[in-house]
Amino acid sequence: MNDVVYLNGDFIAKDKAKISVLDRGFLFADGIYEVIPVYNSQPFRLPQHLARLQYCLEQINLTNPNSDSQWQELISRIIARNGGGNLSIYVQITRGCSQDRNPLNEAETAPTVLIMPSGLLVNEQQITTTTATLLKDIRWQHCDIKSIALLANILLRNQAEQHGFGEAILHRDGVITEGSSSNVFMVKNHEVYTPMQNNFILGGVTREVIIEIAQAKQLKVHQQDISVEQLLNADEVWICSSSREISPVTAIDDKMIANGDIGAVTLLLHHEFQTFKKKLIS
Ligand code: PMP
Repeated sequence: MNDVVYLNGDFIAKDKAKISVLDRGFLFADGIYEVIPVYNSQPFRLPQHLARLQYCLEQINLTNPNSDSQWQELISRIIARNGGGNLSIYVQITRGCSQDRNPLNEAETAPTVLIMPSGLLVNEQQITTTTATLLKDIRWQHCDIKSIALLANILLRNQAEQHGFGEAILHRDGVITEGSSSNVFMVKNHEVYTPMQNNFILGGVTREVIIEIAQAKQLKVHQQDISVEQLLNADEVWICSSSREISPVTAIDDKMIANGDIGAVTLLLHHEFQTFKKKLIS
């Protein structure tokens, strides 16, 4: 199937969508992005994704090219034009094209706006486990911005994969931040822990849903520093993101977490997450 994408006002076939070599996204990674899962043709947590998009645009001094209702309309049209069902919607906004490499003010350029669908693999029945390796967080100081500059994340993820791990869990001076493309949770003595939201982690939409679900289930949730040692000695660990949902981490490097079994809290929250999703999309 040739997907239909939205590019700067036009709905066109993905293989016909082209941008200029002068685009500042292409030259400088001067832009931000967002990924929105769509279940049964309905975007999941769209207001939260649009709020994060707005936050990121403000952080890089770009005016939002669309209102929330315009985004909603464009995304609905992309879903419909691509046959609906389960999809992942990628949104990217760059500072557009400029003739020279100098810093410029925004008034001089029109942003480049792309909305692009791809398949979303969801298996509601089955929980997909993973393994992780601990790596030093080599990224910049503004990981709360969903920047398209993902080179450090890519290098870390590749390093993990080259050594046979499904994710890189990152730390700064022995304090856990997040995964290369996910947030991190752990359980100790039936209480849930996740790093607090600050400039060292992306405020994950899935992370937020999990905190809400856990609290609704009367679980105590601590948003605080987690040391490498605490993580390795956790009863349960999982990573989460829009595309991986809740994925239990059965081992970190050569340390097995809870004998490699999926923990009870992980299973409960996975189940609740699926129920929560179904309620919103039925
Ligand atoms: N952290 C990073 C670095 C990510 O790339 C992602 C995935 N976009 C997440 C966390 C999880 O965010 P979300 O739950 O909104 O997909």
